[in-house]
Amino acid sequence: MIKAIVGANWGDEGKGKLTDVFANESDIIVRFQGGNNAGHTIINDQGKFALKMLPSGVFYEHTTNVIGNGVALNIPALMKELKELEDRGVKPKIVVSDRAQIVMSYHKLFDELEETRLADAKFGSTKSGIAPFYSDKFAKIGFQVAELFNEKWLESKVERILDIKNTLLVNLYGHEPLDKNSILNELIEYRNTIEPFVIDTFTYLNDMHSQGKNILFEGQLGALRDPDFGIYPYSTSSSTLAHYATVGAGLPHKIDEVWAVTKAYSSCVGEGAFVSEIFDEEAEELRRRGGDAGEYGVNTGRPRRVGYFDAVATKYGCKVQGATHVALTNIDVLSYLDEIKVVVAYEYNGEVSTRFGNITELESAKPIIKSFKGWNVDITQISTYEDLPEKCIAYIEELERLIDTRIAIVSNGPNRKQIMYR
Ligand code: GDP
Repeated sequence: MIKAIVGANWGDEGKGKLTDVFANESDIIVRFQGGNNAGHTIINDQGKFALKMLPSGVFYEHTTNVIGNGVALNIPALMKELKELEDRGVKPKIVVSDRAQIVMSYHKLFDELEETRLADAKFGSTKSGIAPFYSDKFAKIGFQVAELFNEKWLESKVERILDIKNTLLVNLYGHEPLDKNSILNELIEYRNTIEPFVIDTFTYLNDMHSQGKNILFEGQLGALRDPDFGIYPYSTSSSTLAHYATVGAGLPHKIDEVWAVTKAYSSCVGEGAFVSEIFDEEAEELRRRGGDAGEYGVNTGRPRRVGYFDAVATKYGCKVQGATHVALTNIDVLSYLDEIKVVVAYEYNGEVSTRFGNITELESAKPIIKSFKGWNVDITQISTYEDLPEKCIAYIEELERLIDTRIAIVSNGPNRKQIMYR
């Protein structure tokens, strides 16, 4: 059985919590894209954790956690995270694809220099080196883990790469050039560190799948940050879509269940069109009520932009994810509202539509809003869907109609146990 957990929106939907819950019934959890540029928050019996590089299945002894070939592998960040877990008594089983590529220190440098150069026209990069990393991967000047084990090969490749990097560093950014030996040393250090974890994950995953193991793909960010189907260029640099996992994990088989995660309201870290956005006191209050979920990005500490639930964006997000099920999170956060607003359509130059337009259309799209009655009671202790207040059930079922995808799980708090199945 293969399942995927992915975001229906801009990220931070609560995928980490759901992965942690699903990992209980999974043998293998695989990260298939992205890097340490976004975080997942997990709260369970062992405490509260923020994971960036590691799959969210690390808290169960029975799981193997895979960093797939599609991931931007930041080795120091991975080691730091592992050490933090081990210090708190968590000793996960981790394997890393020999085909994963490596985030170099100069990727982060280029990311920072470029955001500074762009100034006000910036894309809102997390400055973790992700865009320069993926640019190099597809320009064929990246380093695969497997290449680390051939020093001669590395030496001539570093020379070729530095010709390009140093031309840009010196002439475009006015920065001092990189030194060949220090880059070679960086690579050798990475090799020594990562060696115990490296396997051919393609063969491993395909063997495990043939043996009937339960495999879980864990996505980072959300559908609207996908480079093809998201709000490009305010997108990330690797595909955030469930079906990319068959490539980014290296398991070309049908995904049996695609779970798209969405919040009961909207939040968005970074730049780009965000039609349902709210401002001032209304936004402050929602951010405050959202607590950890509402305030700041796990990785960047940037305040999240917030808005009403956006049925146009979420329906689209579920469709591009090929979602078979939806998990609706953070429903508890809305309990303070007398009236709950939802964006049900967009207006594009006078034309009302439920179509999620392209990026130039979205820039000027206006939200069409519908109001629902709030339930006004604390629901965080409820464990059965039918016990939710009637108005809350009505809200959830209306969202389900609007997004045209089955809401099969409702999450009413950050803890592993605050979850209801429909
Ligand atoms: P991810 O990147 O999709 O895993 O999302 P994040 O972990 O960045 O953000 C989701 C936040 O919401 C985290 O702080 C979670 O602990 C929190 N969270 C998840 N589900 C719920 C929920 O149902 N209710 C509340 N109040 N918080 C939740």
